[in-house]
Amino acid sequence: MDKYNVAVIGGGPAGLTTALTLASAKGKFDFVEGNRYIVIYEEYTDLNKALLNNVPGVKKGTLGKDLIKSIRDQINDYGNVDFLEDKVVKITGEKGDFRILTQTGKEIISEIIVIATGFHKFEIEGLEVETVPHKRSPRPNKIMIKHNDNVVLDGVYVAGLAAGEPTMFTSAAGSGAKVACDILSYWAGKTVVVHDVPDS
Ligand SMILES: Cc1cc2nc3c(=O)[nH]c(=O)nc-3n(C[C@H](O)[C@H](O)[C@H](O)COP(=O)(O)OP(=O)(O)OC[C@H]3O[C@@H](n4cnc5c(N)ncnc54)[C@H](O)[C@@H]3O)c2cc1C
Repeated sequence: MDKYNVAVIGGGPAGLTTALTLASAKGKFDFVEGNRYIVIYEEYTDLNKALLNNVPGVKKGTLGKDLIKSIRDQINDYGNVDFLEDKVVKITGEKGDFRILTQTGKEIISEIIVIATGFHKFEIEGLEVETVPHKRSPRPNKIMIKHNDNVVLDGVYVAGLAAGEPTMFTSAAGSGAKVACDILSYWAGKTVVVHDVPDS
């Protein structure tokens, strides 16, 4: 059975940014050496429908589906993140030993879980999470997961629209980066971020 340090559920802007930020810590901190991460995702993300004119730094007119692909490529450059296209149906266990079951019967073990499943529905059994009406959705019947500063349960974080962020790329992605920094800071035992600087 495959074992990971962090399993991210959801491959939209929030989940991918969580994975990218974690991946990018490679080579910067001893405590992430040898770490492995996985993104488990169903292919559909809201971003697939978007034409982007207002994402800072992204060329006006970029298709959301092209941006998703280029973020995945950016993550793959680090070589420490696996991608699994599948639906997560159940999560059991506890911090350090979560068991994730997918629709096709795969079982994955992870120390930490990040839920980044968007605001349409939450259909994963096993975890004691509470869904409530989404507080920033422009449309009715959207949900978010109750959390305290992005922590749902010990070892379970939530990011993006699932955490109640507004449905904007930058908000969802920013939430993913925050959660990744919180996980890195937990491992470090102090506050850390991941920055690069050009060679002088
Ligand atoms: C038509 C449209 C146009 C938009 N235009 C813009 C725009 O111009 N500018 C802008 O900033 N934003 C725009 N957005 C908003 C932006 O796309 C969303 O805010 C963003 O995609 C939310 O990111 P997220 O990662 O939180 O959720 P999502 O993108 O919804 O990603 C959730 C992910 O979780 C996966 N998932 C859910 N349940 C499971 C499960 N059980 N197992 C595995 N995977 C699961 C989904 O398949 C998906 O991959 C637009 C959205 C739409 C719909």
